[in-house]
Amino acid sequence: MKRPKIRDDLALMEGYHSPQVDVDVRLNTNESPVPPPIAWRDALAAEISQLEWHRYPERSATALREGLAEQYGVDPSMVFAANGSNEILQSLLLAYGGPGRSAAVFEPTYALHSHISRVSGTAVIDGERGPDFMLDVAEVNRVLDLEPDVVFLCSPNNPTGMVESQALVRYVAQRAAEIGSLVIVDEAYGQFAQWSAVELVDEDAPVVVSRTFSKTWSMAAARLGYVIAPTWVVQAIESVVLPYHLDAAKQAAGRLALRFVDDMHERVKQLVSERERLQAAMGRLPLQQWESGANFVLFRPTAMDGNDVWQALLEHSVLVRNCASWPRLDGCLRVTVGTPGENDAFLRALTEILSA
Ligand code: PMP
Repeated sequence: MKRPKIRDDLALMEGYHSPQVDVDVRLNTNESPVPPPIAWRDALAAEISQLEWHRYPERSATALREGLAEQYGVDPSMVFAANGSNEILQSLLLAYGGPGRSAAVFEPTYALHSHISRVSGTAVIDGERGPDFMLDVAEVNRVLDLEPDVVFLCSPNNPTGMVESQALVRYVAQRAAEIGSLVIVDEAYGQFAQWSAVELVDEDAPVVVSRTFSKTWSMAAARLGYVIAPTWVVQAIESVVLPYHLDAAKQAAGRLALRFVDDMHERVKQLVSERERLQAAMGRLPLQQWESGANFVLFRPTAMDGNDVWQALLEHSVLVRNCASWPRLDGCLRVTVGTPGENDAFLRALTEILSA
């Protein structure tokens, strides 16, 4: 057989994955450590038992979009839902990126922004964050002078945890409007932040905000994300997604979750208070850590190699994200905030490792 060849530009590309290892304490993928309310699960089971499985799902996911629109105080025509916010990002790149076009990122940031750009044939313009990992105006200007078709921002930024300054995001939006770029603000961890770029979304601004049910909604298994965007962007996404892309069970899962918004905010509150406890305890250990506005903390052991600490944590059955060999994150690890018990197990293991 003459084996068909994969596209040349994909051949050397590594897929994006975090190891799925069987451990007692899994703090590596920024999921919620607790499941959604039992009442949600029961309501979903009841709906699923009534589903017309022989029919295609409602193509526009109208009820889910209306529910989300109400949450954000926007018109349903400004909402689009997809299979995880990753599919939102992919759809946006299919519509606004592609061969001959470019997307700008400010590293270090969520690896999928550049990865999905490349998969969609979009050239990547690498911007740099400042030494404190915050966006820097001079660098923003340098990158925007290159007139990218798409600009990625991420707030709170993964993996650093910082919330972008409102003034700078507004500035990027204003410059993007001048040059005809689309600004994608990835707010996968947006519920943890003090402010949201949703307030910038307007028919006359090239700004969209993507969010997900995977984190604060405790529904990573459902693969559901959404975007708040001007109607003309929603129409552009509709022109690239596959027909019936959102299955009926997932639509129900999202729609029913919106009944439990207070539970979600309560979980966020508890995670923030656990994060503060975790950071206070980590502050007493030989490590550098960064301020977080999300449900994870980036840190760098100062007296030990990051890879060795990651391995030693694994031997204590604690899995964190190993960023130690990622560009710009030399020696760094990222820990997701877990339940109080999981955080205690992490702190016990880390203290033992770093004081050995
Ligand atoms: N954006 C960021 C910043 C993330 O960290 C993640 C998940 N790791 C995603 C998007 C993707 O989330 P989803 O599960 O909605 O595809």
